[in-house]
Amino acid sequence: MIIPRFKRILLKLSGEVLMGPGQFGIDPATVDRVAGEVAAAKAAGHELCLVVGGGNIFRGLAAAAAGFDRTSADYMGMLATVMNALAVQNALEKLGVETRVQSAIPMSSVCEPYIRRRAERHIEKGRIVIFAAGTGNPFFTTDTAAALRAAEMNCDALLKGTSVDGVYDADPKKVPGATRYESLSFDRVLADNLKVMDAAAIALCRDNDIPIVVFNIRGEGNLAAVLRGEGTSTIVR
Ligand code: UDP
Repeated sequence: MIIPRFKRILLKLSGEVLMGPGQFGIDPATVDRVAGEVAAAKAAGHELCLVVGGGNIFRGLAAAAAGFDRTSADYMGMLATVMNALAVQNALEKLGVETRVQSAIPMSSVCEPYIRRRAERHIEKGRIVIFAAGTGNPFFTTDTAAALRAAEMNCDALLKGTSVDGVYDADPKKVPGATRYESLSFDRVLADNLKVMDAAAIALCRDNDIPIVVFNIRGEGNLAAVLRGEGTSTIVR
């Protein structure tokens, strides 16, 4: 039997992960594959909370740079995360995994509102809770939402599933020979401005003693490997 290193985890899925090989939007085959990884983690005995990003559809900051009002653009970004959350829910339920989507912006015809105690009850009943609409506030990101929900839900770790297998000392796509860190301290990440998550998310995890594991969720079996304490990743603690 696998003894989970982290029993309850918050998995942050960036929107980028859901677009698969495309440049934009949701790739159903990719969402199905990621859902398979999540379902396997559940079957291995982990309790899972998910926070999904929206960058594959809409990013507030980019839209503001192009002339949109920042606050409106951020609300549009938050709505994009709800679309992604429904896509992930759909894929998980096709695999027979019970889920609930809770949105930080109430939209009762679409999903539940975020209610912490209710989310806790869903987890107790063996469901996966997918948190949508970020923090519900403009000027934040879904990374901060992930840190916030991880703290509220007493998660043992925040796993950031991205398309790189950890944190490097330079961009591995541009700099040949860039080295991956095995582990880093929160203070080092903040002092050196390393691109792990935004500073608010890092500070929240540091203050609540929640380790962050950055790994590549695009690779088959990577989530399971990281949860076994194997595989390639960077841990920030
Ligand atoms: N957003 C926001 N408040 C939040 C979370 C997200 O305003 O608490 C908006 C913001 O515009 C952001 C967009 O939603 O650009 C999509 O989220 P994010 O960029 O974090 O998604 P990811 O990079 O993970 O795909």
